[in-house]
Amino acid sequence: MKKQADDIAPDTALEHARPAPLVDPFARAITYLRVSVTDRCDFRCVYCMAEDMTFLPKAEVLSLEELGRLCSAFIGLGVRKLRLTGGEPLVRRNVMSLIRGLGRHLDSGALDELTLTTNGSQLARFADELVDAGVRRINVSLDTLDPDKFLDITRWGKFDKVMAGLEAAKRAGLAVKINAVALREINVGELDKMIAWCGDQGFDMTIIEVMPMGDIGEQRVDQYYPLSMVRANLRKQWTLDETDYTTGGPARYFTVRETGQRLGFITPLTHNFCEACNRVRLTCTGTLFMCLGQEDAADLRAPLRASESDEKLLEAIREAITRKPKGHDFVIDRRREAGSVSRHMSVTGG
Ligand code: SAM
Ligand code: SF4
Repeated sequence: MKKQADDIAPDTALEHARPAPLVDPFARAITYLRVSVTDRCDFRCVYCMAEDMTFLPKAEVLSLEELGRLCSAFIGLGVRKLRLTGGEPLVRRNVMSLIRGLGRHLDSGALDELTLTTNGSQLARFADELVDAGVRRINVSLDTLDPDKFLDITRWGKFDKVMAGLEAAKRAGLAVKINAVALREINVGELDKMIAWCGDQGFDMTIIEVMPMGDIGEQRVDQYYPLSMVRANLRKQWTLDETDYTTGGPARYFTVRETGQRLGFITPLTHNFCEACNRVRLTCTGTLFMCLGQEDAADLRAPLRASESDEKLLEAIREAITRKPKGHDFVIDRRREAGSVSRHMSVTGG
């Protein structure tokens, strides 16, 4: 009989010993795994996908049980934080069985944090269950508070549903961070208002620079707006106090003095964040990307399926980490084809 993700027991050895983390060639400990559980989504955000996206054939996608086994292998190798993303993680059928299974690693102390990034469309349905499974914080992507603009950006999104999802998340006690992508001539004039709204709601917020990932049928350069300019504009209205808070990722955090909430800026293009990178990314087909901005990847599906024991899989993960590059080469420029990666953000997970 097939093992259910729900039944995945944490490795008992982990309850006693904290494994030494994997270390890459640049002496960075790899303690954070992001998993794209599906490349599918109920939205078609203009900076993320083309409207007529072709998704992976279902046969290529790992089962939830297989994803659970892969995550557990990484936890056994010292990963302390897991983020589920996508596509939209909450549209994958039965995703809660995976989340509940992974939640057991929180109970055993092997995992410090289980979290997810979501567009919020399904949160009204899942917020309570997420808390029950051990999730405490979530990132919700929201680029505007204007319902018409929201429809323009997401193409298929339902603004009211996301607002109801956010209410449900608050009621359930989830800490929420809003992710907003800065889009030239679309929402940069509104970020001010969003900071005030996040202050009222008790949400932290992160503003993200557009990254050149995947063909979206539009010119990236038309969407791109440097965060150095966003920050300068925001400083006219808000007092941004420097903090040393870090997640080991690309965000630089401030506290907005007037609201008391945290405000992060993710600037992959104007600021190089790679030297402290602690993460790798797994796709729903079992491909491991050691860097969001590079094409090199390792196939973990074959070693996963080769045997019921994890020996080959662990070997493949260790080998992949030896190939983690020093950094990315993102560039947004009309004259250059290079400097972009061909896969969409929804494949690797943001
Ligand atoms: N569907 C979920 C969501 O929207 O939160 C999770 C997946 S989505 C790919 C993760 C994050 O990546 C979102 O915050 C989204 O705004 C961001 N994103 C997608 N494409 C991007 C791009 N080309 N540049 C920068 N951020 C991007
Ligand atoms: Fe879907 Fe998230 Fe991409 Fe928007 S950003 S299309 S919600 S995966």
